[in-house]
Amino acid sequence: MIVPDWLGQRVIQRGDRLALVFEQKEWTYAQLAEQVTELTGLLIKQGIKPGDYVAVLMANRSEYVFLIHALARIGAIAVFLNTRLSAVEISWQLGHSGSSWLIYDQLNKTTGTEAIVITSSQLDQDVNLKAIAIDSLNLTTKPDQNHDYESKSNPKNKNLKLKNTYALQHSNLLEHNANIDLKVVQAIVYTSGTTGKPKAVQLTYGNHFFSATAAAFNLGIEPDCDRWLVCLPLFHVGGLAIVWRSVIYGSALILQPKFEQEQVIEAIANQPITIVSLVPTMLKRIMANATFESSLSHWQKLRTILLGGAPVDKRLWQRCLELDLPIAPTYGLTEAASQVATLTPTEAKSKIGSAGRSLLCNQIRIIAIDAINPQEEISKQHSNFNSKPSYELPSGEIGQIQVRGTNVTIGYLNNSIRTFPSIQKAIDQSGSKHDQDWFSTGDLGCLDSEGFLYVVNRRHDLIISGGENIYPAEVEALLANHPLLKKFKEFCVIGTDCPEWGQQVTVAIVNDAGNDTKLEPSLTLETLREFCQTHNLARYKLPKAIAIISAMPRTASGKIDRQKLRELIEQKDR
Ligand code: AMP
Ligand code: MG
Ligand code: MG
Repeated sequence: MIVPDWLGQRVIQRGDRLALVFEQKEWTYAQLAEQVTELTGLLIKQGIKPGDYVAVLMANRSEYVFLIHALARIGAIAVFLNTRLSAVEISWQLGHSGSSWLIYDQLNKTTGTEAIVITSSQLDQDVNLKAIAIDSLNLTTKPDQNHDYESKSNPKNKNLKLKNTYALQHSNLLEHNANIDLKVVQAIVYTSGTTGKPKAVQLTYGNHFFSATAAAFNLGIEPDCDRWLVCLPLFHVGGLAIVWRSVIYGSALILQPKFEQEQVIEAIANQPITIVSLVPTMLKRIMANATFESSLSHWQKLRTILLGGAPVDKRLWQRCLELDLPIAPTYGLTEAASQVATLTPTEAKSKIGSAGRSLLCNQIRIIAIDAINPQEEISKQHSNFNSKPSYELPSGEIGQIQVRGTNVTIGYLNNSIRTFPSIQKAIDQSGSKHDQDWFSTGDLGCLDSEGFLYVVNRRHDLIISGGENIYPAEVEALLANHPLLKKFKEFCVIGTDCPEWGQQVTVAIVNDAGNDTKLEPSLTLETLREFCQTHNLARYKLPKAIAIISAMPRTASGKIDRQKLRELIEQKDR
């Protein structure tokens, strides 16, 4: 389905409306479109063509937003890279996605250029990568100096000055405007894979469109005054989705370079922000900050505090209710272009522990846990889609959460289509999965009789630390080569409670003798961390604790009982 380019529509309808704020600079939609047009031209001049896979390695900044729109106009596919990854991890993703361009910024220069090109060739990947430093393009910055958005009292007034003639005067701005084909892939977002290697989630324009509209039907929108604060990285779906939502809604995106509690508190106290997206640990840290209390009234006046990426623990939830904070806990995943279910702030007052009802664009069902054969799951590797009939559970019963809808990915980009990527090929290969099949999230949960979702356990053994996902398998595979660990009967990697990050990576080691003193003295947390670091594991995945146990708790079927192990370690800590 073809629809008019959203940014172009915004310029024609309300070019004077606020589109973007970054570090004291503001862009109206007309100005945003102007920057996008300029950047589009510069990128075309560099040689970027429709269908090219263009990797982006940048911290949050205004140019990141321009770039997302510019690549869309060219018809290139953006491959979003996590700036926290090591050079080896990034190189792997560049090779896997078949990226022919890498656009990076100064901050990511060290991991961004030589290191990546060198490691890519070491990995024996066909590196035919052209790197472009975004700053070398000398993009002119044209925020509107005349706009006065200072006054907080009535943000609605600011946008009432209609400039309908703007589009006519600047019709040249529209020259690059293409229509948007909802079937086409806009981006590749990597998500950690259970087997250790990340999976390349393909998100189409349609995925973003349905996700954005369905989210609005649930939480509402006020285009004239909505300002959405984003301190989540744009390379994660939680950030990326808001770039599209903003332009689809015609609301403003207030972008911060990264999460800094003081900066978030400051922005909410001094700017007319209406919505903020946070992962629960961020909110916890904000609420523990000394300056939070003095800005409490501004937090209470927000329309929504969207909390996602990890469960909201009961204590945080209760505290938010006591303080009258409009929290909207949500359950989502990269493969569904962000939200799948979201609780409204009103519902959050009574449905404690739930992640809300499914959005309009997707359905949720719970199937019996054993309906999916784990062996088959592993062999399918690149596909979590399940087409065989599954035993659907009645409300109240816990099972696997499955999702289907127009926000769900058309599939993972895999090796067979990486060398000569073609948009159409990708769609044809997996297009049929779109409406018929259910996507298995791997998370466990149940629906109550009113359709509210409760996530009781997340997929497999996923560790979520400060909003970043870490799969134990990846760390375990690396540590298995550690000479000192080999001396022990067994070890495993598990997420344990951590007040600051929600969870932390812990290495549980079975000491046969059952006696800590027998432990190899040189086997310290530091040596394990160094080992992982020299083997190019991203910093956020490094172990943060070691726990010595006398025996590994196991389930009846002989698998490691991670729940018991976690309890064992957390008990020991107390
Ligand atoms: P990502 O691939 O980074 O989007 O992570 C998605 C995963 O985060 C989900 O499959 C869940 O395991 C976890 N997650 C997201 N939201 C929630 C939530 N509200 N409660 C529990 N787990 C969640
Ligand atoms: Mg994921
Ligand atoms: Mg996440």
